[in-house]
Amino acid sequence: MTKSAKTISLNVTLCCKCGGRCCQGSPGVWADPQRFFAVFFAGQRLTVEQLRCRLPKLGLVLWEKSGVPVPAPLSLESGCSFWGESGCRFSVSERPCQCLALVPNKETLQTSTGCRCRLPEPFSRAAVRQRWQAYWLVDC
Ligand code: SF4
Ligand code: SF4
Repeated sequence: MTKSAKTISLNVTLCCKCGGRCCQGSPGVWADPQRFFAVFFAGQRLTVEQLRCRLPKLGLVLWEKSGVPVPAPLSLESGCSFWGESGCRFSVSERPCQCLALVPNKETLQTSTGCRCRLPEPFSRAAVRQRWQAYWLVDC
């Protein structure tokens, strides 16, 4: 894991004004497998099958369409299932890496729809997929 993959770009003032437009779209995911397992499973390493069985209790799902399983918050029609009136129900220490890394942009507030906030490249879908692929390739 590179240092740049641990970025936290929170702007509480701006995001409070916005109200979580990003959360009303697709949820962010955990980009760092080690961090994910440390937060939710005390560092225990699980197989894909074990993880698939245990995620629903946490309100999480496994995104597998890309061919690489990546855990994510459950999506609802309204957006991320962890989003509520008071914001994200995850603490900052638990929150998905992509959510923490998203760089708030005031231009988002100047438009009526969409999100102008920027996800740094180390947190892109391709980069996340690569990191999880490398993780799953190592035998449990
Ligand atoms: S869309 Fe941008 S400004 Fe709005 S809550 Fe998300 S990161 Fe913050
Ligand atoms: S996990 Fe939290 S910050 Fe991330 S999309 Fe869901 S509600 Fe928003």
